Amino acid sequence: MLEDTLSRIEKYMRKAPDKGLVANYIPELATVDPNQFAMSVCLANGQQFSCGDVTTRFSMQSISKAFSLAMALGRYGDGLWSRVGREPTSNAFNSVVDLELGGGKPRNPFVNAGAIVVTDALIGGRTPKETLAEIVQFVRYAVGDADIYINEDMARSENLTGDRNWSLAHFLKSTDNLYHECELTLGTYFHQCAIELNCQQLARAGRFLAGLNPEDEMIANRHVRSINALMMTCGHYDGSGEFAYRVGFPGKSGVSGGILAIVPGVASVAVWAPGLNSFGNSLLGTIALEQLSLAMNWSVFDTV
Ligand code: GLN
Repeated sequence: MLEDTLSRIEKYMRKAPDKGLVANYIPELATVDPNQFAMSVCLANGQQFSCGDVTTRFSMQSISKAFSLAMALGRYGDGLWSRVGREPTSNAFNSVVDLELGGGKPRNPFVNAGAIVVTDALIGGRTPKETLAEIVQFVRYAVGDADIYINEDMARSENLTGDRNWSLAHFLKSTDNLYHECELTLGTYFHQCAIELNCQQLARAGRFLAGLNPEDEMIANRHVRSINALMMTCGHYDGSGEFAYRVGFPGKSGVSGGILAIVPGVASVAVWAPGLNSFGNSLLGTIALEQLSLAMNWSVFDTV
């Protein structure tokens, strides 16, 4: 049933006339072929079903924010919320005005300003290198595969062109909500966004958020619950309401076209289609998740 659904979804996506537009503000992303599609699903019984370009690697970008948040909650617990809020926003993921209106406290950990604060918190007394090694290690452990690395060209590309993130970091610094130098925290953040994996690996990475490997609790269940709530309400920025309406389970998107979506207790789903919609979320990835959700009755709002 799931296998058939996936092959039907892939066929539909290959023929879709509008594939969205790849991000062009990071030069390294602007050259990615938008005619690629992959989807992978991990189930509670350990099975994994996939379709499409499942072994092609892409950078995690903002999907990494779910993992850095998991690590920061593990380390600081509720103390983290003194620096970053938990509310959705109707502004873009890289909005400066949002941060100013919040007096330097980002609205949530998934907009860029919030994720920069979370990464700043993760650095703590460490060097950026040590911090990145811990983040990569965490992702590798979640996947159960050591073959995951940072794409240095991607990180460099973003460092050179990420003026908006630089302005967010400087604003955070001006309100004493950035504890390290801007270049140090942003350098770490850009590298975290440049962690590369393929769609199959991404689906496996989300298993701890779906509660699929209870014998190996990576973080406390109450933190899993918090992260899923935030992915549902904030994981797609100002497109989060639309995503919840259409898909009906938590998801975190990245500007490279990946989405990690969680059906609590049931499945961890990864999808990758590089073309984006107007919110900067994968256009076909969202449609694919909507089709999967409908076919499997996986919306958390389903009553049957
Ligand atoms: N690295 C990207 C940025 O900071 C991540 C944004 C995203 O994936 N939406 O702009």
